[in-house]
Amino acid sequence: MKPVVALVGRPNVGKSTLFNRLTKSRDAIVADFAGLTRDRHYGNARLGKHEFIVIDTGGFEPTAESGIYVEMAKQTRQAVAEADVVVFVVDARAGVSAQDHDIGAYLRKLGKPTVLVANKAEGMTEGAQLAEFFELGLGDVLPVSAAHGQGVRSLIEEALGALVLADAEDEEGAQADPGVIKLAVAGRPNVGKSTLINTWLGEERLVAFDLPGTTRDAITVPFERAGQKYELIDTAGLRRKGKVFEAIEKFSVVKTLQAIESANVVLLLLDATQGVTDQDAHIAGYILESGRAVVLAVNKWDAVDAYEREQLQRQIESRLAFLKFAPLHMISARKRQGLGPVWTSIAEAFRSAMCKMPTPKLTRLLQEAVQFQSPKRAGMFRPKLRYAHQGGMNPPVIVIHGNSLEHVTDAYKRFLEGRFRKEFKLIGTPLRIEMKTSA
Ligand code: GDP
Ligand code: GDP
Repeated sequence: MKPVVALVGRPNVGKSTLFNRLTKSRDAIVADFAGLTRDRHYGNARLGKHEFIVIDTGGFEPTAESGIYVEMAKQTRQAVAEADVVVFVVDARAGVSAQDHDIGAYLRKLGKPTVLVANKAEGMTEGAQLAEFFELGLGDVLPVSAAHGQGVRSLIEEALGALVLADAEDEEGAQADPGVIKLAVAGRPNVGKSTLINTWLGEERLVAFDLPGTTRDAITVPFERAGQKYELIDTAGLRRKGKVFEAIEKFSVVKTLQAIESANVVLLLLDATQGVTDQDAHIAGYILESGRAVVLAVNKWDAVDAYEREQLQRQIESRLAFLKFAPLHMISARKRQGLGPVWTSIAEAFRSAMCKMPTPKLTRLLQEAVQFQSPKRAGMFRPKLRYAHQGGMNPPVIVIHGNSLEHVTDAYKRFLEGRFRKEFKLIGTPLRIEMKTSA
């Protein structure tokens, strides 16, 4: 599981700026997709080979009494509770405020690993100005400038320090079986995740088995169906109660993100009676960013009429256009309708995500594609695509080598993607194409 870092602090200290700096590179990948909601508070970040999840807690108003502030404070507390490390941001220029004291007291009581950072510290001589933050009783303060990117690396090294070591141990302990499909069922509250999972687990065809070496405190449910082994990754806070699993915890974005990251295939559930909501689009956006394979299922299909069904289909096409590679199913978890084809899609998506693409075949396909349609000249430059090899799995990555590849247009990349997808029968997985220009 990826570690989770929560950014907290009063408004205006620079949390969003820091969040953007930490997550920016990933955002760029998905920036072109229409329909993808941008105002997000959760993002993926990376330091070297260590990936982690960052939460921008937006507004932290521990003393707020009513309305939206209470809701925000509640969400912030939940985020903090779920984080492995808290980064408490203060304003180096403004000095310590009463609100900083409140937040500091709250964090001290909580006893989570906390890193105190003073933002907007560019051009400041250390020492005197920062000394007053010791009052907060959270130890050393780390000067950073989110806007200029100064000190951010040290900040993350400090925050991840202990966690990175813990992760390394986990990696040794867990022996992943490549034949097991790790499956996460994602979706906002009430779409029917628990109902579906219990319907599945109640099926006679499904046999539970024990799986050794599950990491940390993640709850996973191993089972076998039609000769295929699966490991269901918990997103719903499942607890075994006799023979059935019960979702006892409320929805958690952090759990959802971690489950998505740990999965090979994500089944994203929508609720036919609610249409595609912003929260659905957010979760869909995270799945796209993660690069995991995805199957879409609209649940509660039994509860909508013909007109609503048509509206829904159009809404999915427009709002989730960026997931158009994902197979779509209409199901009823309660009435056990349409469930068989979902399994077929999950298996296909897994096969696609793990597809092996031999270099000679990729290169031949590339050359055929170029012969069919060559890339446009850009001024003096004509991109020359020479050969291709596979650069990764889940998601599959195709690396193309050649000259002047920075001039290859997005339209041309989509054309290539289409050819590769067709040839390797890729269903339900994103496909990334990277260009490597030789000097
Ligand atoms: P948030 O409310 O904590 O999320 O704060 P924002 O990220 O929205 O930043 C508040 C203001 O501080 C904005 O005007 C930012 O441009 C500014 N700011 C953020 N980081 C820095 C920094 O490192 N140096 C300076 N001088 N200003 C910054
Ligand atoms: P979760 O929060 O995503 O785990 O959602 P639940 O499984 O708890 O379901 C939320 C509500 O939707 C419950 O009242 C279920 O009975 C109902 N529900 C689940 N699946 C279906 C379905 O296929 N059709 C209808 N009409 N209702 C469903």
